[in-house]
Amino acid sequence: MLLASYFASYRVQRQLLIDSALEANRAYAAKLAAVTETTLGNALQQLAYSASQCALHPDDDQLVQAEIDRLQQQSNLFNSTLRVDAQGVVRTLSPAPLQHLAGTQASSPAALEALRERRTLVSTPFLSVANNLLVIVSQPIFDANGHYQGYIGGSLYLRERNLLNSLLGTHFYQNGSYLYVVDRNRRLLFHPDSQRVGTLVGDNTLLDELPGLLQGTRRLVNSQGVEMLAGFATVPSTGWAIVSQQPLQQTVAPLRQLVLNVVAISAPLALLGCLLLYWLTQVIAHPLRQLATVARGTGGQQPTERIHQVRAWYAEAAELKRALLFGLNLLQERIGRLNHDAQTDPLTGLFNRRGLQQTLRLLQAEKRGFSVVVLDIDHFKQVNDSHGHDIGDLVLQRLAGLMRGTCREGDLLCRTGGEEFLMLLPGAALEVATAIAGHLRLNVEYTPIEPVGGITISLGVASWQPLAGDDPADTLRRADHALYRAKQQGRNRVCIDHPA
Ligand code: GH3
Ligand code: MG
Ligand code: MG
Repeated sequence: MLLASYFASYRVQRQLLIDSALEANRAYAAKLAAVTETTLGNALQQLAYSASQCALHPDDDQLVQAEIDRLQQQSNLFNSTLRVDAQGVVRTLSPAPLQHLAGTQASSPAALEALRERRTLVSTPFLSVANNLLVIVSQPIFDANGHYQGYIGGSLYLRERNLLNSLLGTHFYQNGSYLYVVDRNRRLLFHPDSQRVGTLVGDNTLLDELPGLLQGTRRLVNSQGVEMLAGFATVPSTGWAIVSQQPLQQTVAPLRQLVLNVVAISAPLALLGCLLLYWLTQVIAHPLRQLATVARGTGGQQPTERIHQVRAWYAEAAELKRALLFGLNLLQERIGRLNHDAQTDPLTGLFNRRGLQQTLRLLQAEKRGFSVVVLDIDHFKQVNDSHGHDIGDLVLQRLAGLMRGTCREGDLLCRTGGEEFLMLLPGAALEVATAIAGHLRLNVEYTPIEPVGGITISLGVASWQPLAGDDPADTLRRADHALYRAKQQGRNRVCIDHPA
């Protein structure tokens, strides 16, 4: 962004410089054109006055001589002045060095034009016999009767010192800019290279367009192949074009230094900004990264604990942290419930075989001895047959309740099959287990369950000692055998596993 803004400001500044240079050149050319117009108007006015004086005594050469001398000498407007009579004969001239031309026939294009047109004229610039590039400004002389008495003219030598020359030929700018003036025929009237004054300008795109334009600006390539910013204006009365122009490169050169200065000043700040930005991104990303690591499940600690340790210092991270904790809690709760469901018998709420297996593994790992009581309802088929399956289920639930009332805290109650149950008594010796089994048997026998009345159960007891080194599954089998014997011996009794 910084680079883009450097580039953009460079482009904008460059365009501004170019635009203002073009406009400055146009304004300068327009001002010079206006002053030139005024100067020529001034010259014509002075000539008009002298013509009116000469008209009083057109044949009094002495008086006319005095008038044109005054005209030539009182200002540096004209390089020379002359009076030509109606026949085209030069009657008087000023200054004195030209007097030898008096009496000759005026033959210059300007003289012929003035004699023919008999009106106020500014001639097109032309080369005189003496190879002077000059312009003749003239006013006709009409006497009191309106007869044409020739004209009075003033010449402006474009290569020599006069008011017009110093006006256009002196250029004040030092920035490589220069000024030139061309007439309608593309002849150079002024140019910094004095050798070129008087020559015709060849290829020039601006001059090609000029006849239709009063003033304006152009970007162009000059005769030396240099790209230029030009402003121009035309002098209305003569059609001269004044062009002020300056090289593009020189105009935009200061900009390069300006941009370098700007870069030098802003670079340390920009660097500081980048570092700050980097630091800020790290600080912002840190809690997110930590949360992501926890969510990935890597790291040793408990995820919940680790999430709590993340310092979520801004609202979004805090929100994420909350969401993660919530999700994790939900997950753990679901897993817990699924776990519970997977290990529980839905009818009685006691553990099922899976729950039993897990507890057995735990006790084995802890090397903690236990006793086991397995029990089976006597003639349960008859209960189902005479009261229906639902009542059978109810009996199963009641029996579970009686088992709960008989066991100790920490004992595990389990429904291992249809109407077969098991009590796992950790830490209980065989005698204790037998006592509990007997207690339960009596309890069941003497607790009526409506509408069935009384039921009885048969029980088998066995115990497991960690030192004996046998498999807990064997203990369950031995308890089953004891139960089998209880059934064999007439039911409603407790049988104890005989150690081998
Ligand atoms: P005994 O054990 O004294 O030898 O005779 P019994 O009639 O109880 O025989 P057994 O133990 O083989 O009978 C199992 C019966 O338990 C079979 C079935 O009708 C009943 N039973 C098994 N599971 C369920 C259950 O979930 N609900 C109900 N209502 N009855 C069940
Ligand atoms: Mg059975
Ligand atoms: Mg049975």
